[in-house]
Amino acid sequence: MSFRFYFDGIEIDRAPHLRHEPDWAGGSPRDSLARIVPIWRDQSLVHGGDAPRAAFLEADEARAICELGSTIVFLGLDNGHAYYAVDLSDHEDPTQLALPDGAVFEDLRRLASNLDQVDAGKLAYGRALAHWHRNHRFCGACGAPTTSNKGGHERVCGNEACGRHHFPRTDPAVIMLVTHPTEDKCLLGRNKRFQGLRFSTLAGFVEPGETLEQAVSREVKEESGIYTADVTYQASQPWPFPASIMLGFRARAITTEINCEDQELIEAKWCTRDEVRAMSTDSGILPPSNYSISRWLIDTWLNEG
Ligand SMILES: [Zn+2]
Repeated sequence: MSFRFYFDGIEIDRAPHLRHEPDWAGGSPRDSLARIVPIWRDQSLVHGGDAPRAAFLEADEARAICELGSTIVFLGLDNGHAYYAVDLSDHEDPTQLALPDGAVFEDLRRLASNLDQVDAGKLAYGRALAHWHRNHRFCGACGAPTTSNKGGHERVCGNEACGRHHFPRTDPAVIMLVTHPTEDKCLLGRNKRFQGLRFSTLAGFVEPGETLEQAVSREVKEESGIYTADVTYQASQPWPFPASIMLGFRARAITTEINCEDQELIEAKWCTRDEVRAMSTDSGILPPSNYSISRWLIDTWLNEG
């Protein structure tokens, strides 16, 4: 399967009907066909070195880990195996865990470009659910402890008078390439959080009560002072750091005067295709990294000219 962005290459049958099984998908993390995806405080287990690869453990080598995990989540089925994420975050020192030789916990964002993308998708999925469990141990309505249910795809409040069910959250963020109304240029910005002289498409979170299209227009106006129209959806990228999905759009500007009024951006500017193509390590002005949805939106526009 080809992929366009980090983490969009996941191939797994989430098998939601099996989440209702009391013994989890008719198997268990201790089954010989199980594959364990260990998580420690938002880090994923990989075999390190020059060519890192995801560490999916077999039941035998993961027996001690499964006993220690605070949460086990049934992720789904792939190629005859049932995948389970196991959260080991309660342990202070992950080097004391019984891990295979050479396996270490690493930040998935740092490794993304070096991992097999199908595997990276599974790691991202497991990381997202482990993070959600760790941050929803108590009911947001009444404050009582919650417990994991349905194979780890919901948590239920233990207070009988409340009994609320809580579900994993995904927060939508919009990211957009804005084109100039009359000239062959696009709008790129330099965010104060970026390291170095890196330009990217504009982006921001969707607020309650607005459409995705309104979020695009609002964010572009806030960050650059530009008014837009003709907002059209292009593609999406899972971004579970900790719980987002990036929704990619194209928008057409109807004004041209830039004003970075909310100071989220250090600067924004209209760039020609040649200026964007010249962005490189050599020039000292960087484009977004490969396989980001920002880069894909820009490259798609470049290829049209
Ligand atoms: Zn409650």
